[in-house]
Amino acid sequence: MKVEVVKCPTCRQRLALMPYVTEGALVVCANLRCGTSLRLVGRHPLRVEVVPEAETYKVDYRPESYG
Ligand SMILES: [Zn+2]
Repeated sequence: MKVEVVKCPTCRQRLALMPYVTEGALVVCANLRCGTSLRLVGRHPLRVEVVPEAETYKVDYRPESYG
C-alpha cells in the first residue's frame, strides 16, 4: 500500500495519508502541539486545507463522543 505524505499548512509537519482517506475526509495533524483539523480537498495532487475550529463541531461524524 502506498502511503502519501502531505505537509500540515500550519506547522509543516509531514503527515502520512493512507490510500483509503478520501476527498472531503477530515484528518487531524499528527503533531500534538498543533492538532489542526484538516480536510483532504484533492488527491492529484494531494492537497489539504485547514478546517476552522468552529466548523469541526458541525460535522456529523463525532468519534468517541458518547458523553
Ligand atoms: Zn500541524
